[in-house]
Amino acid sequence: MRIPEQTIEEIRSSANIVDFISNYVQLRKRGKNFIGLCPFHQEKTPSFTVSEEKQIFHCFGCHTGGNIYKFLMEYKSISFIESVQEIAEMVGINLNFQDAEVSAAQSELERYYDINVLAAKYFSDNLLKSEAGEIARDYLVKRNIKPQTQKIFGLGFAMNGWDSFVNYAKENQINLEDAQLLGLIDSKNEGKFYDKYRGRIIFPIFSPNGRVIAFGGRVFQGEENIAKYLNSPESSIYLKRKSLYGLYHSKDEIRKVNKAIMVEGYMDLIALYQHGVKNVVASSGTSLTDDQVRLLSRYTKNIIVIFDADTAGKKAAMRSIEILLKQDFDVNVLSLPQGEDPDSFINQFGKDHFEEVLKTAKNFLEFQTSEYEAEGMFEDPKTEAEAIRELVKSAAFVNDELKRGLLIRSISRKFNLREKLLETELNKYLQQNLKNARPKVKARPKDGKPISKVKTKDEIILNSLERELIELLFEGNEEIVGNIFDTILPEDFTNESLASLAKIVYDSYLAGIVDTASLIDKVENEKLKNFIMSITLGEYQISASWDERASSGKVEKDPIKYTADTIKKYQLIKIDEQIKKNDQKIENLGDDPEILNLMKANDELRQEKKDLLNSQIYY
Ligand SMILES: [Zn+2]
Repeated sequence: MRIPEQTIEEIRSSANIVDFISNYVQLRKRGKNFIGLCPFHQEKTPSFTVSEEKQIFHCFGCHTGGNIYKFLMEYKSISFIESVQEIAEMVGINLNFQDAEVSAAQSELERYYDINVLAAKYFSDNLLKSEAGEIARDYLVKRNIKPQTQKIFGLGFAMNGWDSFVNYAKENQINLEDAQLLGLIDSKNEGKFYDKYRGRIIFPIFSPNGRVIAFGGRVFQGEENIAKYLNSPESSIYLKRKSLYGLYHSKDEIRKVNKAIMVEGYMDLIALYQHGVKNVVASSGTSLTDDQVRLLSRYTKNIIVIFDADTAGKKAAMRSIEILLKQDFDVNVLSLPQGEDPDSFINQFGKDHFEEVLKTAKNFLEFQTSEYEAEGMFEDPKTEAEAIRELVKSAAFVNDELKRGLLIRSISRKFNLREKLLETELNKYLQQNLKNARPKVKARPKDGKPISKVKTKDEIILNSLERELIELLFEGNEEIVGNIFDTILPEDFTNESLASLAKIVYDSYLAGIVDTASLIDKVENEKLKNFIMSITLGEYQISASWDERASSGKVEKDPIKYTADTIKKYQLIKIDEQIKKNDQKIENLGDDPEILNLMKANDELRQEKKDLLNSQIYY
C-alpha cells in the first residue's frame, strides 16, 4: 500500500457505503443493517449485508466482505489503487499526485494500460488496414471470422519483421523497458530490442471491465518448431490464474441466461460468439483455476463444459469439473464428436444444430460414467470398484447435501449397489476433503500427548473475555481502544488468533486509525475476517445488546464502563492464572531456594488482586 493511510481514510470516510452500494445492489433495511441479493454469487434469498454504522459489507453466503474499496475492487475487478481513485473522484477529494509513492504505484498501472492500448491499436491497424496484413486477413476469412467480429474482439496482426513494433513504440514515446516487462518486446545483449510477436494473429485479453491486460499471439502460416501460442507474461495488470478469456464480452449474456459455456480456445469462443452463442468463456489452454471459477461465479453457477474429445482434453475436463463442483457449480459436460471442436462444429452445422447438441450435455456423473464405460472399466470387477469409487469421490465435492444425496442414489440405482455402502465410501471422502480444507494443526509434542487438552473453567472464561475484548477493539471507538491498550497488550492474549487480531488493531491505533471499516481491511486471514464480520454484523453484537444486557442487569449501560469492567475481569483472571502456575512450580521444586521467590511473587499478585477488586475505576 502506498497512498498515505490518512488519505485513504479521509476518502473512505467521506463516502457512505450504503448509498454507494445502492448504485449496484438493491438494498432494503433490516434491523440496524441493510440487506440485498449478493452481486458476487447467485442467490435467491439475501445474505448480503451492509452496515451503515460500521461502513462495511459482508456476504454470509460467499464470505466476500470489507469496506467500500473492497466492494469496488471486487465488483469491477480493479486494483486497490484504482478503487481509491474512483471513490476519491466521487467524493471530490483530489489525490495528491505530487506524492511520489502514490504516483509511482498509480501511474505504473496506468502506464501499462496505456501501452497495451497503443499496442492493441497498432496490431489492429496492421490487420485491418496494412498491406502486409493481407495474409492475416485471408487467413481469418478462411477461418470464417468476419471483420465485424475481428473488431469486436480487437484482433490484430503482428508483422513478420523484427523491429516494426519497436519502431512504433519509439515513435509513440513508449517506455521500452515497460514494453519489455509487458512482453511486447525483448532485448538481446547490448540492449538491442526486438519484437516478441512476429507473424502472428493477436488476441487482446481484456479484464472483466474491458481493459487490455495482455495479449495472446497465434501462429497461422504453418510454421513449425515454434510455439503455436505466445502469451504475455504475468505483470501487475495481468494475473493469468485470475483472468478468463471472453468474459468481458460475454458477462452480460451469462447473467441474462444464467448459464455459461466453457470452451478451450480463443477461436472456439469467437466462432460461437459470432454465431450468436454469446454466453461463452475460454480457459484458454491452461487448466481451470479456483480464482477463475470464483470470478465466473459472480455471473452464474451453471456451466456447460465443452472439451475436445482427445485424451488431454478429457483429462483437463475432469480436473475442471472438480474445481467447479467445489464451488457449488451445476456442472454439465458436452463431448463433441471425435475430431470436432466448437469452432469447426458451429461453422459446419450452424447455431441451431449446435444448440440441439448442447441440450445433450450430460451431468458430470453421467459423463464420468460413460467415460469409464468407454474405457471398459465396468467389465472387470476390480476396475469396476475403482470406477465406482471415483464417482463417489466426485460426488463428495458437491457441497449441497441434498444434491449429494441424490447423486449417491443415482449411482446406487445405476450400478445396483446398496446406498448404505456408497454412503460409507462417501463419508470417507468427505472426511478427507474436510481435512484438506482445514489449516494444518500444530504437531503433537514429543511426549505424544495431544495439544488440545480439555479446557479448564478459567481457560474458557479467559477465552470468552478475550473474544469480548476483540469485539470492543473492533467497535471503532478510540476511547475504548485506548483504554484496553493502556492495560492489555496484544501479546497478553492467550488465544493466538485473537492475539493476531488485537495486534492489527494495536498497530492501526498507533497510526491513529481505529474505525471498523479500515480495521477489517487489514485482516488478511479469511477465517478471522469472517469471524470479525459475523461479530460486527451478526446478531451477537455488544453495542446492540448493551441496552438489553444493561436492562437485565448484566452490564453497565455505558460502553466505556462496560469496557473497564471487562478489562478488570480479564486482569483478575490473568492474576489467578499466574498464581496457580506459580503454586504448581512451588510444588514441583521441592526445597529449591527458587521457591522463596515464587512465594514472594504470589504474595504480590494477591495484593494486586485485592487492590484491583477494591478499586473504583473512573474514566
Ligand atoms: Zn455472496
